[in-house]
Amino acid sequence: MDLSFSAAEESFRAELRAWLRDHMPAGWGGSEPPEFDTLAGEVAFLRDWQCELAAGGWVGIHWPAEYGGRGATVVENFIFQEEMAATRAPEIIGRIGVNLVGPTLVAHGTEAQKHRFLPKILSAEEVWCQLFSEPNAGSDLTSLRTRAERHGDEWVLTGQKTWTSYAQFARWGICLARTDPTQPKHKGIGYFIIDMQAPGVTVRPLRQMTGSNEFNEVFLEDVRVPADHLIGEPTRGWQIAQTTLTHERGTSPRQLVIHRMLLTDLMALGREAKAGGVAAGHDACLRQRLAQHWIEVEIMKLMNWRTLTRILRREPLGPESSTVKLYWSEMSQRMHDTAMDLMGPFGLLSSGSPHAVRNGRLQRSYLYYRAGTIFAGTSEVQRNIIAQRILGLPRG
Ligand SMILES: Cc1cc2nc3c(=O)[nH]c(=O)nc-3n(C[C@H](O)[C@H](O)[C@H](O)COP(=O)(O)OP(=O)(O)OC[C@H]3O[C@@H](n4cnc5c(N)ncnc54)[C@H](O)[C@@H]3O)c2cc1C
Repeated sequence: MDLSFSAAEESFRAELRAWLRDHMPAGWGGSEPPEFDTLAGEVAFLRDWQCELAAGGWVGIHWPAEYGGRGATVVENFIFQEEMAATRAPEIIGRIGVNLVGPTLVAHGTEAQKHRFLPKILSAEEVWCQLFSEPNAGSDLTSLRTRAERHGDEWVLTGQKTWTSYAQFARWGICLARTDPTQPKHKGIGYFIIDMQAPGVTVRPLRQMTGSNEFNEVFLEDVRVPADHLIGEPTRGWQIAQTTLTHERGTSPRQLVIHRMLLTDLMALGREAKAGGVAAGHDACLRQRLAQHWIEVEIMKLMNWRTLTRILRREPLGPESSTVKLYWSEMSQRMHDTAMDLMGPFGLLSSGSPHAVRNGRLQRSYLYYRAGTIFAGTSEVQRNIIAQRILGLPRG
């Protein structure tokens, strides 16, 4: 394990820090980011922010230079995410396009597809969504039932997708659909580019317990897709999806920084005197929990560094990435439970209430991170992988 960054990597970090210092949007960069009245307002702001970042050459830095990236190394990409989170810069809106679609198109797209779609992903002129999950195909994605039938120069798609983040703002979607129902489950799947404005596409937002509605159900009814919007071979979509899914996993520098900051919040809450003048940190049990959280965040950091070193040595990540995902997502929920205990009944108050702690930010975070043990593979699925592939236990 190599724990130091090279001089070139440190200078890359300094360049980014300087850029962010000069370009940080008003109100950002502090512990309480600005609130938006609507999700649409937030999305519009984030589009402008991504456009500015792209103009500075700071979007898709891991993409090859010929497609508008910087050909950044995995370490530079790690540093980039770490710095963006540490300076509390806004996240980009086009995460699916930049992190999932771009690398998939670079690896499997035709030159025409790359030329048409890649530039507008970086500038956020076109936002993308991921139409993979279905009501009965989440963890077991190969059970998907959306159908794609070839009619002349077009494919006709029919089915239902769900949990599609930001579909209501997306111009395009990457979509898996069954092209050959006679093949075994993981074969006979095609990987399509869907025009979200095409006739037959209906997007219905789903409200989450955070109050936001980033999620959507997407209904596809006889949606016509030109043949040149298929990526790769009609029955090799599952293999192509592995490229997309691999980019959902690996290291999580952003989550590391977020949880380091959460730890700082927890320590501050532990020191604050509540009504009656007694700080929660006087409670021996809470002190033990806070110390344990500090230890776990340190372990998360070491796990990230170990993964990074493995990637640099070109060693396969294998089932180890399941350990990292399982560890940080469950750690996150334990930390958020402590936040709620520290806030006591005030934790029930959301933003807008004069008595809400930290303007309801920690409550929102508590509710949001319930999703941490679901996205990018649920905890049960990660444990199955560990049981079978690390411990060699038989399949259930
Ligand atoms: C924040 C967030 C954003 C998302 N964004 C998108 C998106 O943009 N596009 C998209 O396509 N999807 C998206 N998803 C969906 C996500 O990929 C799925 O939620 C996930 O794959 C789990 O599928 P499911 O919800 O259908 O649960 P299911 O697979 O139905 O699982 C239900 C429960 O059964 C358990 N379970 C399932 N199989 C097994 C097994 N073999 N052994 C033991 N237990 C099992 C699970 O762990 C879980 O507890 C998002 C999800 C979240 C939380």
